[in-house]
Amino acid sequence: MFEVRKQVRPGVESIQPYLPGLSDDDMHMKYGVDHVLHLDANENALGSSPRAIEAITKELPALNLYPDGASQLLKRAIARHHGVPVDEVFIGNGSDNILKLMAETFLEPGDEVVSPTPSFPQYGFGAAIMRASVQRVPLVTDFAYDVEALLAAVGPRTKMVFACSPNNPTGTIVTAAQAQWLLDRLPEDVLLVLDLAYNDYSTNPQRVVETPRFLADPRVVILHTFSKLYGLAGLRVGYGLARSTVWQYVNRVREPFNVNRLAQAAAIGALSDEAHRLKSQAHAAASRLFYETFAQQHGLIATPTEANFMWLGLADAKSVADALLPFGVMVRAGFPGYPGFMRLTFGTETENEWVAQALTQVLGAGANTAVPTSEL
Ligand SMILES: *Cc1c(COP(=O)(O)O)cnc(C)c1O
Repeated sequence: MFEVRKQVRPGVESIQPYLPGLSDDDMHMKYGVDHVLHLDANENALGSSPRAIEAITKELPALNLYPDGASQLLKRAIARHHGVPVDEVFIGNGSDNILKLMAETFLEPGDEVVSPTPSFPQYGFGAAIMRASVQRVPLVTDFAYDVEALLAAVGPRTKMVFACSPNNPTGTIVTAAQAQWLLDRLPEDVLLVLDLAYNDYSTNPQRVVETPRFLADPRVVILHTFSKLYGLAGLRVGYGLARSTVWQYVNRVREPFNVNRLAQAAAIGALSDEAHRLKSQAHAAASRLFYETFAQQHGLIATPTEANFMWLGLADAKSVADALLPFGVMVRAGFPGYPGFMRLTFGTETENEWVAQALTQVLGAGANTAVPTSEL
């Protein structure tokens, strides 16, 4: 008898499928709420860039045609935006796609990657598919990066080191000095993948940025996405910056039409949309202040964030997250190893007010009490 389980590749069994939050329909049926606040995926509360939407509308009559497989126009726009050569840009169906393609290009069974924790789970996904292992390095006090520990986790089979700045879910940054320190010591055959998905939300002068000096290093890969700041998560488009030699190989495992026509057009529009970018940045900055004040007033631990979300410390974050559902508020809790924390994406101003009221009620009802960091 054909047994699927015996036929799948080793390692696939151990991969946990991504669990999305409840749908609007689920929320309506379970809690009777009609308006759901999706604050669990770090999406842009202000919506998509209007220029992106305009570009999509113009593109609609051409949907019978395949997209440009090489995403040439978008590559050129990104190259101009960052002041880099076109062949140093790679476009993916979301940066998730690039992470997987990188794994397929570089990882063999038994290889290792180094990832901070808590951080973006997708860094381990490609490794799992390729049967490479993940060395997880905890962030230190206040969730700052410990680059010495990252370096110490590098072994003879290490192919890639990941770092996310500002880090999802903690909002803490890798400084330029830390990145340089790491590059100065990292073996010459190890890639440093810097995921800067939220970096344009940060104004911290110490944060790592894609300077020509970093990009000149053949081991550096920088990842960006249109999903967050540009508000295009639903379209799936992200990009990488690295030396062209890296992309020449990653390009071999890429599906020929990995980025759809609407995504390419929208991303070009979004990149030119200075007004939307500035508005989104200002909104994140204002929301940060709002929640920092709220956290202070309620004795909650709020890690200083440089992104469009907060990492809040509570005694039992999962029960608080569950108690917020009847208010229509969806946040993320249940981070493995961090039961005392939840990640809350910034909503619109009105939504933030609503969340603050809901949280006040939930906390007041005794679902939780604040505890010192040492006990979390
Ligand atoms: C949201 C996010 C991304 C973006 O992924 P896409 O596939 O481009 O939507 C990448 N990295 C991190 C850390 C993220 O949080």
